[in-house]
Amino acid sequence: ALLTGLLFSLLVAAASWLLLSLHQRPGREILLGIKRGQFHVEYQPLVTAQDGRPYGVEALLRWTHPVEGMIPPDVFIGYAEAQNLIIPLTQHLFSLVARDARFLSQQLPRGTRLSLNLSPLHLASCDFRHHVQTWIAAMPADHFNYVFEITERTMVGEKGAGEVFAWLHDNDFKIAIDDFGTGHSALIYLEKYPFDYLKIDRGFVQSIGTETVTSPVLDAVLLLAKKLNLKTVAEGVETGDQAAWLVNRGVTHLQGYLFSRPLRPENLIHYYQSQARL
Ligand code: C2E
Ligand code: CA
Ligand code: CA
Ligand code: CA
Repeated sequence: ALLTGLLFSLLVAAASWLLLSLHQRPGREILLGIKRGQFHVEYQPLVTAQDGRPYGVEALLRWTHPVEGMIPPDVFIGYAEAQNLIIPLTQHLFSLVARDARFLSQQLPRGTRLSLNLSPLHLASCDFRHHVQTWIAAMPADHFNYVFEITERTMVGEKGAGEVFAWLHDNDFKIAIDDFGTGHSALIYLEKYPFDYLKIDRGFVQSIGTETVTSPVLDAVLLLAKKLNLKTVAEGVETGDQAAWLVNRGVTHLQGYLFSRPLRPENLIHYYQSQARL
């Protein structure tokens, strides 16, 4: 009885140590997670607004922690940025995508847009270009059209942002401004930097048909995007009403659960196949 009691308390101690360790030492847990293959990538389709046809995919990182289960990227990306691990984590993302791409490129049409999210910290690092080149060398040649998604905060205080963007364009990468409308002093960046896509934040999309106050803002943003010749992607589209409203306003691409959730590669291929049959 004494032994089982001892074993039991040991077990409880071990479990609580594991539970605590993620939040107390997230950096160590992320590194372990990379080493132990706990991360994978899901791909969420984007469709062309006019005909609903698949246009491309956004890669979204997933972490299954052995104790805590699925940890949302909003949480672990924040940890990674705070612990100076966003660069190794993004390099891991690159290698996971390159691994998936060998299989995906045999099934997805040539020219499929492949979007990856980048952290501003990575973009500003001097190794960034080298990391991108290394990644592309590991990707199937001439198959995907690449898009990097970055948030507005990237531009704040980044003197070199313009230069990096020019380099990306010289190398055939497109740039999307992500979560548009959620940061500060947003509009000025649209003129200043050569974005190709503007991604309308889910918050805006979800307010369609519910809060009349947000519609004028969204209207203004869409008008501006059109004037600046940007493609627009509405994210978080969940209802047919939202989609109809957005298409009516000239949004060029849609993304959201209405079309598909983020999918593992096998399921993404099924999605493409089912769309091709329509
Ligand atoms: P995001 O870039 O704005 O990604 C879109 C998020 O909206 C994703 O959440 C996606 O699953 C979710 N979403 C898409 N359609 C719908 C919908 O119809 N309804 C709802 N409720 N949600 C929808 P996720 O995957 O949890 O990612 C959250 C954020 O974490 C991302 O926001 C992005 O900022 C960050 N993130 C994810 N993966 C990466 C990554 O590989 N690198 C970096 N730097 N950030 C990442
Ligand atoms: Ca994004
Ligand atoms: Ca977004
Ligand atoms: Ca977001």
